[in-house]
Order: sequence, then structure tokens, then C-alpha cells
Amino acid sequence: MSVNEISNRIKQLQAEKNAIILAHYYTRPEVQEVADYLGDSLGLSRMAGRADARVIVFCGVHFMAETASIISPDKKVLIPALHAGCSLAESITGADLLAWRAAHPDGLVVCYVNTSADVKAHSDYCCTSSNAVKVVQSLPAGRPVLFVPDKNLGAYINKVTGREMELWHGDCCVHERLPASLLLERLDEYPEAVALVHPEVNGSHDDRVLQHPRAFIASTAGMIEHARTSPCRQFIVATELETIHQLKKNSPDKEFIPALRTTLCGQMKKITLERVLDALEHEQFEVSVPDDTRRAARIPIQRMLEIQ
Ligand code: SF4
Repeated sequence: MSVNEISNRIKQLQAEKNAIILAHYYTRPEVQEVADYLGDSLGLSRMAGRADARVIVFCGVHFMAETASIISPDKKVLIPALHAGCSLAESITGADLLAWRAAHPDGLVVCYVNTSADVKAHSDYCCTSSNAVKVVQSLPAGRPVLFVPDKNLGAYINKVTGREMELWHGDCCVHERLPASLLLERLDEYPEAVALVHPEVNGSHDDRVLQHPRAFIASTAGMIEHARTSPCRQFIVATELETIHQLKKNSPDKEFIPALRTTLCGQMKKITLERVLDALEHEQFEVSVPDDTRRAARIPIQRMLEIQ
């Protein structure tokens, strides 16, 4: 079947099955095009809560579908590729976190949304890259804070807020490939360009990048909005490169240059159009979270959704 035929069949099945398709910005462009809603982790979590549908087809990695299922337990949540995982989410288990908490009994735990349901269930607050700084700023002063699992996002938040959170040493295998030296090299190479830098990036918390007048550090949604409204015409993209699809759609007259041509997430690319069709046709692969874990994980997630 051609891409058009598959897309049409997907639309037909969606209507028959009362299904909504949510897709992350890092998925393939043709998957983004069939989505009812496209977003970063915070936007997708909010949409999962609001969706008026029987089925949610979640085009993203496993922890995202789990989060959707926690927020909307009455809906059937499907992930088109069962083994689409995330190096960051897999860097810590619930048992690891319990042991870390035991060593810091006064500590509050903030988990990044890129964690399993089990890790969320043992956390006090959850955050995304869109609201991480605000979540940490809302915590009582003087309490030790344990941040899991991204050492880069954690170090960035420490620099911006002045807090000294203890950091778990996980990272995203894609964003880890972008050190400060490479970002500074690209900024020198393109003297008119602004660098759009995700806070998961290895170089995001380096002072030379943080204080650079042409570096803009933000979540994916924040980058897209900044590029759209900025008078600048040229941008260096320091994040997962499929983001360029939406950057170009929102700002067709501007130029987007990859900071590095290999920053693609292989896990997100497992979501193909054919697999989206199979997911709808066979209502596979269902993601659900055991009741006790879901109830505990919902508390930090709810706090995350309340902080803009
Ligand atoms: S880009 Fe990194 S953080 Fe995002 S899903 Fe892929 S491995 Fe995980």
C-alpha cells in the first residue's frame, strides 16, 4: 500500500474504533502527519487526559504510553511498537530509586517524565523539560532534592535555580552526543544563527553555552515557538532531528541546520505508519499499569500537570 492508502485506512479505522492518535515530535514525519495531536511529553500527557476517545494510539516510546495509561485508565492505550524504549528511562528502576531514597531519608524526589511507572510511583514530583525549572522552584527551600534520571537536565536545573540537587547519572543516548565544544563550534561557524538547545543535551549546562547570547535552551515545544516568533532567519538545531519537520512547518521561510547529523532516536523510529495501522487493526500492543502502581504514580504526575 502507498503512504496515502495507509493513511486513509488509518483514518477510517480511527473513526470506526473511536481512536485518537497522539504522536511525539521525534516520530517519523509520515507518522506526525496522521496524528490528531502532536506534542512533547507535557503536551501529550495533557492531551491524554483530555482525549474524548475509547482508544489512544500512542506514537512514542514505552514510558510515554504508560504515562497516558496512568492519566487515562478508562481508555485502551496502544503502542504501535512494543519494544520502543528509552535509554534514559531504562537507566533507573523502582528498586534503584528506593535504595537511593533510603540513603537520603529527608530527600524529596523529582523524577523526569522519562521514567517507568514504577519509578514515578516512588517519586514525590514529576516534571518535563517544559516545566522542570518551575517544579524545582516550587519545592520548599532547605529540603534536599534527589533528581532522576537525567544528569544533564538536572545539572541545567541546578545552574538555573541555584539549587544543589543530587543527580542520578542517567542520560539520553541521543542528546549525550552534543557536548558544549560542538555547540560552540557550530555557533562560530554560523555567526547569524541562534542555537536551539534541548536541556537534555550534554552541553546545555556548560556556562559558555548558558551565557551565550545566541543559545536558546528550551523544550521541543518551546524551541518551535521561539523559532516561529524570533526575527532570526537561521537556527542550529541541537536536539533530535525529526524536530526539524515541525520547525519547518511552523516557520517555512527559515533555515534549520542540524548541530550534528546523527542525533536521531532509533527507538522513536520504530513507530512506522504500517505499525500504526496494525495497532489500530488488531488493537495492539496494549500498555497498562497495575492498579497500585498507577495510584501511586498518579500523584507526582498530577503535580506535574498542575505546574505550567
Ligand atoms: S531521544 Fe533520548 S530521551 Fe527521547 S526517547 Fe529517545 S532515547 Fe529517550
